[in-house]
Amino acid sequence: MNWKCNSCGATYSDTNPDGTAYYHVCDTEILVHGLFDSQGKPTQPATTKRRESIRDERPHPELTYVDGKPMRQKANPEDLGRTILTPWEYTIRSEGAGRTKVE
Ligand SMILES: [Zn+2]
Repeated sequence: MNWKCNSCGATYSDTNPDGTAYYHVCDTEILVHGLFDSQGKPTQPATTKRRESIRDERPHPELTYVDGKPMRQKANPEDLGRTILTPWEYTIRSEGAGRTKVE
């Protein structure tokens, strides 16, 4: 299946050519092109800025799967020295601005 990242605009397939899973991660920096006047003289140097919304589809490192459902350890509110497993909505590290299915 092909996707467009709503954070960085990249298009990608969620599988590599060899059939293994591909996990998209946005570049953390955005290139801001330099500007030139009509004579070709630079008026503003190229620079980079940090991306505000980063999508990171790598599996969340703190999840445990119970019967195929993602669970995360959380402090037990009744006994703070212990943890409990609680259902977790996200399975990736960061949703960013989401993604859109493309043909
Ligand atoms: Zn992206």
